[in-house]
Amino acid sequence: MDNEKIIGDLLHAHGLKKTPIRMEMLDLFMNHDFALSASDIVAKMKARHDRVTVYRALASFEEHGILHKASEDGQGAKYALCGHDCPDETHADQHAHFVCDECHHTYCLEDVEVPEIKISSEFSVNRVNYTLSGICKECKV
Ligand SMILES: [Zn+2]
Ligand SMILES: [Zn+2]
Ligand SMILES: [Zn+2]
Repeated sequence: MDNEKIIGDLLHAHGLKKTPIRMEMLDLFMNHDFALSASDIVAKMKARHDRVTVYRALASFEEHGILHKASEDGQGAKYALCGHDCPDETHADQHAHFVCDECHHTYCLEDVEVPEIKISSEFSVNRVNYTLSGICKECKV
């Protein structure tokens, strides 16, 4: 499969070692067009991995600009692949996300930029979460 080379290059570019668990996790992300949570990943992986291992890998992908948090709900955070090269530790891809009310999948709206919001300088913003919800393309049919 071609994904293997893409994933290998991606890990290399972000200074992460190529481990089987990282390879398999990123392969899952490449095969889904919606965001995945830690429990989705645990459920989809071929071998049983404990949640802590998966959480740790997700955190390091996020830290290295490979994945970003796409949404967060009662079930935890869902992650998606960064659309373009994000430098380590800062995510340049500030786009909106869409959460479906029916299937609860989260989609990246890569071409919908988060509008610039001016707030008082008393606050310093670390994260912006711009989420639209409704019915997704899969559930609409
Ligand atoms: Zn990113
Ligand atoms: Zn849906
Ligand atoms: Zn996204």
